[in-house]
Amino acid sequence: MADIDRARLLESVPTELFIGGKWAPARSRATFEVVDPASEEILVRVADASSEDGIAALDAAVDAAAGWAATPPWKRADLLRAAYDAILARREEIATLITLEMGKPLAESRGEVDYGATFFRWFSESASRMHLEGAYGTEPGGGYKIMTYKRPVGPTLLVTPWNFPLAMGTRKIGAALAAGCTVVIKPAEQTPLTMLLFAEVMREAGLPDGVLNVITTSDAAGVVAPIMADPRLRKISFTGSTQVGKLLLGQAAEGVLRSSMELGGNSPLLVFDDADIDAAVDGATMAKMRNGGESCVAANRIYVQSGVLEEFTRKLAERLGSFRTGHGLEEGVTLGPLIDGEQRAKVVRLVDDAVDKGATVVMGGEVPSGAGHFYPPTVLRDVPRDAAMHDEEIFGPVAAIYSFDTEREAIERANDTPYGLASYLFTRDLSRAVRVAEALDTGMTGINRGVVSNPAAPFGGIKESGLGREGSSEGIEEYLETKYIGMQL
Ligand code: NAP
Repeated sequence: MADIDRARLLESVPTELFIGGKWAPARSRATFEVVDPASEEILVRVADASSEDGIAALDAAVDAAAGWAATPPWKRADLLRAAYDAILARREEIATLITLEMGKPLAESRGEVDYGATFFRWFSESASRMHLEGAYGTEPGGGYKIMTYKRPVGPTLLVTPWNFPLAMGTRKIGAALAAGCTVVIKPAEQTPLTMLLFAEVMREAGLPDGVLNVITTSDAAGVVAPIMADPRLRKISFTGSTQVGKLLLGQAAEGVLRSSMELGGNSPLLVFDDADIDAAVDGATMAKMRNGGESCVAANRIYVQSGVLEEFTRKLAERLGSFRTGHGLEEGVTLGPLIDGEQRAKVVRLVDDAVDKGATVVMGGEVPSGAGHFYPPTVLRDVPRDAAMHDEEIFGPVAAIYSFDTEREAIERANDTPYGLASYLFTRDLSRAVRVAEALDTGMTGINRGVVSNPAAPFGGIKESGLGREGSSEGIEEYLETKYIGMQL
């Protein structure tokens, strides 16, 4: 078990709304329950915001906007850096909370805290520099002077999913705050606790009131729509499904809001005959099993060249067979539950459908009895093109293996999707590696590695996987606009 006392942690975790630097219940006093997906026990109840609470959070972000934008960049940078240290100082607590409400094994939750915190380090380093980006010069006709500079977009709404309860928030918050924007964040209903504890950490680190506001709700649509319709809001940054992303883009059109969208994926992973098969199995295991498969960049379709199909499939099944399923706080557990019954039912439906259409079960595929939304590591081979899992995100520990013969076929099949988030390929041939990486229609490609996320790299997708990038030097640009001043001297 983890070192943190679970009962004490749950007693001390904030459960109210964080608005204008203060904790307060929902106006209606309503609450909703947060459930441990591994035991199905109720952990705590948290405030259930209404649309009035949502607008109150926006009021606070608007009130704080001018002061935060005018805060000297070094002061903002120092605060972000202090927040980075403060998150890491509470690493065990935050990680335990992630495991309790989301289910992933504690070691992975610790990894998420490290990854999530790093955005504050990264963006603290950018906070003071972007204010010097701009131009000063004479217009080509020689008539007057052109001056440009970057300024914050303004009050921003952030909406995040449950699969990385800390990092999907901090990847946005770090960039927004560094740019000088104030924010309202709405975490997912299933995992509100991590973001609430994070807000308390930020408060203790000295973040001014109103710069960060957190609203938790069981009525996402009812709370988000009025904020989106408020003309004081200047930006939406969303991470979640493509379906909800399209809906929010429609709402954003009304106010012509700046929009950043990190949406769904359907990542292909290609293994060529000339690959180092053990390295490919390592990479595929990471790309498939990280976060129990509940990741937007999870390898959803694994394409293996026919010459190495048998060896790769056998070795991947051996590797996935070594995972130990259980409560993520138990020692030695490497695979937690899925987030809820609905997600498990979806995985069951996709596996049954693939098998009905001709896929072979190499291992797994049986739903265990008992409490918790567990699903075993599963390997399917000979998955046909018309299987629903070819086109839908599995979001579970199911490796779907397809075979191919030629490089051209592999590329065509990998790109046969409206999504374009991540892709992976394994080969020892450098020319092929670069050629195939360039031909894959995705925002990110891993060559001989199964993980691409890094705060210094631009994370994001093309096609229906999204708009904009998070992390890297581009992440902060999402929260900035260019102001041009023409000067007649
Ligand atoms: P989701 O259903 O789209 O929910 C994401 C967020 O949107 C949650 O906070 C949710 O609130 C909120 N929401 C739902 N319906 C809404 C509405 N009508 N109006 C406003 N907000 C609404 O996605 P999910 O199931 O939580 O997350 C899984 C998806 O996220 C997958 O498709 C995955 O690929 C994607 N994802 C993408 C990235 C990326 O960087 N590209 C990263 C992680 C995940 P409630 O929780 O209260 O419903």
